[in-house]
Amino acid sequence: MLTPLEKIFLVIIILATAVAFFLPVLVKIRIILAGQPKARFSSLGRRFLDAFTKVFFQRCTLKNERVWTGLMHVFIFYGALSFDTFTLNHTLEGFIPNFYLFGQTGFGLVFSFLIDLFAILVMVGIGFLAFRRFVIRPPAYETSRLDSAIIYLLITAATLSFLYFESFAIAHHPATQRWAFLGGWLSSLIQKANLSPALIAQHFKISWWVHLIVVYGFIAYVPHSKYFHMFAGPVNVFFRNDQAMGALPHLDIEHSEVFGVSQAIDFTWKDLLDAFACVECGRCQDACPAYATEKALSPKMIIYNLRRHLLRNKKEIIQHSREALPSLMTECFTADEIWSCTTCGACLHVCPVEIEHIPKLVGLRQGEVLMEGRFPAELNSFFRNVETNSNPWGIGFADRANWTEGLGVKTLAEHPEAEYLFWVGCAFSFDEAGQKIARSLVKLFQAAGVDFAILGQEEKCCGDSVKRLGNEYLYQLLAQENLTNLARYKVKKIIVGCPHGYNTLKNEYPQLLPLLPDLNEEDKKLLQSIEVIHHSQFLEYLITTGRLKLKKPFSGRVIIHDSCYLSRHNQIIASPRQILKWAGQNQVTWLEAENSREHTFCCGAGGGLMWTEETQGTRINRQRTRELLSHQPEIIISACPFCQTMLSDGLKDENREDVRVLDLAQLLTEVVAI
Ligand code: SF4
Ligand code: SF4
Repeated sequence: MLTPLEKIFLVIIILATAVAFFLPVLVKIRIILAGQPKARFSSLGRRFLDAFTKVFFQRCTLKNERVWTGLMHVFIFYGALSFDTFTLNHTLEGFIPNFYLFGQTGFGLVFSFLIDLFAILVMVGIGFLAFRRFVIRPPAYETSRLDSAIIYLLITAATLSFLYFESFAIAHHPATQRWAFLGGWLSSLIQKANLSPALIAQHFKISWWVHLIVVYGFIAYVPHSKYFHMFAGPVNVFFRNDQAMGALPHLDIEHSEVFGVSQAIDFTWKDLLDAFACVECGRCQDACPAYATEKALSPKMIIYNLRRHLLRNKKEIIQHSREALPSLMTECFTADEIWSCTTCGACLHVCPVEIEHIPKLVGLRQGEVLMEGRFPAELNSFFRNVETNSNPWGIGFADRANWTEGLGVKTLAEHPEAEYLFWVGCAFSFDEAGQKIARSLVKLFQAAGVDFAILGQEEKCCGDSVKRLGNEYLYQLLAQENLTNLARYKVKKIIVGCPHGYNTLKNEYPQLLPLLPDLNEEDKKLLQSIEVIHHSQFLEYLITTGRLKLKKPFSGRVIIHDSCYLSRHNQIIASPRQILKWAGQNQVTWLEAENSREHTFCCGAGGGLMWTEETQGTRINRQRTRELLSHQPEIIISACPFCQTMLSDGLKDENREDVRVLDLAQLLTEVVAI
């Protein structure tokens, strides 16, 4: 088909495209490799299968609320796959006349049909996305508009040049039509125009070159743009976090010289890969409670600004030049951003390419707290209270079990063979509202004949807030003391009343064990095998085994507020609902918030923000309370002491103290036979 000179020109185009493509890819790979180590190489087969099914079947984009956008992305994704395959065919056709990859029968016919179908669907998809981005202009799409415009134009040009080529190819060689319905129709128009065979042959050749140059231009452009996510996104999904979502990584304090993240090279290679995988879809921003309440934080902008910083400082990063590299907190992020995150996980949950925002934000907090000694002023007393009395309230540690007065609760020291340890936690021990929940739980345990004990004065703060506020050193001290006590009493089962404590004990303490030199291997094995149960799961168990009996069902309009650390981070969604169904029988009107279950909206207390001042924008708890109140509930049910406090405050602010906020345990004490 091509003359020898044209073939040389084609080879030059291929080589130039390869250089334009691989040079920026190489730079990005070198930047990523400059990051700190991160173990993400386990279970490679499962990782591959997971990534393949997520990407190939587009579960990544179809998984969340933007149904139409997801569908359009599916059109473009499969269209791109078809066009990529066609490009291979098109290039080889330049060297081998009449080459056709799939033959003249079977899949060859189907492929010719599919590629015409996707030519239409891709144009529909591009039209939809361009309308959304440039006419509707949602805030989530505010970045990289020129980049998007260039890519939309290149895809449109590639599709139109394909149709130009296909129609003249069919007009020139009618046998190549196969099942190409669109190309066949366009070529019939060419036939009707009575063009001479020589002119058709000329257009056939020109259109071949036009399509080839447009497609190779597109390939060369992609790694220079945000559309590099086409490659980095699937790789990122492959290296996704396959551990518990709520577990944050630990610092190896013993062997580290730098604590937390101050410069880009302090991030792990996976954090740096995240920055290049971002689609800039803004789903995380739309889901973020901090962004929704006018705080400085947008999880999308965290990733976007990190990528710009990496590219701006690529030389220093690749050379690992700590002296020449600017600090992230002076060039890239602000204190208002990093201290606004509630670690609710909504961003991680909706991200189509599994980007992990929370470890980055907490890593930056660690850098600020441990390296710079910079943090919100109100945390001074918080850290001091935890250091001296092992609880954030600062009440003497000796008073930790005062709430049990008159209940006949034993400590493990008094009853070491107890089947269950009731991990009380700081909120249940010291906060007045939390103490009421703890007392309700004890009454239920006693009514059901549960053999349990508490640690009493020996229990320390679990360290959830301390860790998320960046004080990893203090967290590990608390964890070490708690783990030593658990090992000493050979605890096998723990019931936890607070989702934050549940997450820390279940997901974070086991991961910390290899870093604790003071525990022997036998203790570590025992600690690894402890069963941690949230009280909602345990109450469900007591009901289903008949150990709690219904006295009278409750009634009214009831709505559940799902705690982020139960529903999203730990997928405990069914247990609270099952309990309420049983307790309400047929006398309750169930209400479900728009943001519920794994899509719940944070109460504002997570990430240690229970202990900081919320000065920007609307208070998060108020926004959540308003959402719940819009359903006109009489009772709001939660299963977290922090959520209960935040929602009670929200109701006060809204002058709606007629609405009750109850923990599941409190509700059950009203309806079961005690
Ligand atoms: S964890 Fe929650 S608050 Fe933090 S950035 Fe993500 S969505 Fe926003
Ligand atoms: S981080 Fe994920 S959800 Fe957020 S903009 Fe990037 S790709 Fe979208």
